[in-house]
Amino acid sequence: PEGFLSVRDLSVRFATEDGVVKAVDGLSFDVQRGRTLGIVGESGSGKSVTNLTILGLHNPRTTTVDGEIVFDGKELVTATERELERLRGNRIAMIFQDPLTAMSPYYTVGRQIAEPFRKHTGCSKQEAWNRAVEMLGKVGIPNPAQRAKDYPHQFSGGMRQRAMIAMALVCDPDLLIADEPTTALDVTVQAQILDLLKDLQQEFGSAIVFITHDLGVIADIADDIMVMYAGSAIERGSTEEVLRAPRHPYTWGLLNSMPRLDSDLSAALEPIPGTPPSLLGPPSGCRFHPRCTFQDRVGGNRCVTERPLLGEDRSSACHLTAEQKRTIFIEEIKPR
Ligand code: SF4
Ligand code: MG
Repeated sequence: PEGFLSVRDLSVRFATEDGVVKAVDGLSFDVQRGRTLGIVGESGSGKSVTNLTILGLHNPRTTTVDGEIVFDGKELVTATERELERLRGNRIAMIFQDPLTAMSPYYTVGRQIAEPFRKHTGCSKQEAWNRAVEMLGKVGIPNPAQRAKDYPHQFSGGMRQRAMIAMALVCDPDLLIADEPTTALDVTVQAQILDLLKDLQQEFGSAIVFITHDLGVIADIADDIMVMYAGSAIERGSTEEVLRAPRHPYTWGLLNSMPRLDSDLSAALEPIPGTPPSLLGPPSGCRFHPRCTFQDRVGGNRCVTERPLLGEDRSSACHLTAEQKRTIFIEEIKPR
């Protein structure tokens, strides 16, 4: 079924001095209204590039985009900058990791929330200001009528993050793209922000794309998960399915590098050995093969020569058989 946001066979290439970097390679996914898709992966997996491309914020002179991005029936890859500008901040909003990149130091927080609202609705300055104060209250800023007059530097990190969320949501966006929005925050504030996003989604029915390297955050907020590696999706499914029975060695690695509440907290986290590949000359076959310890189970040279493809719905791009994916996880990964 077509999503409210449908990405089809998206490829994003950059020209660099050293050659062409294929940052996103044949990516497809859907997000429905009222649902949250969590995109997980290490840095360099293509998740942030995907988000910037959806927003049309890539540099058209150095970037080639192929494929389709359809938002509520409208094609965004071929849309003009004017059309994209009308969507951004209005029907499509974004939240980034660092609020200071999204907020100006020179204007009050209230004004920065009020301005996009006024621009997109054409209401009066006073109405827009009232709306800004209302939004600050909604995101849990105490004494919002007073705090709206503050400048961003007068807010704490957590409060700035809330203010940026207020700014993103002020026009009731249909699609919210959040790129590592809680990474810089302490665990308590992070949990509050995630709760806030869930509440606001209930109220506004927005579709959310939530980008992070943290499976714990995804477990908390996403309905569905797409795991990315080296520019492609390598596993997808409902959050429950993917976390309960992951089917890709890379996802097993991600799970193993996550702290477990039910295990001895002194147990060291096991990061996945190795680093994500350069996308200038990505590995042949399965892009994960230089880091994968399960190639011998597949047999032959298949992992090195043949690229595994991701199917529809619940699937993983790995040559292991369905039975191997199930038993290896249960017998060798899960017990740790
Ligand atoms: Fe590992 Fe081969 Fe599966 Fe890639 S296809 S994840 S190298 S077992
Ligand atoms: Mg990123």
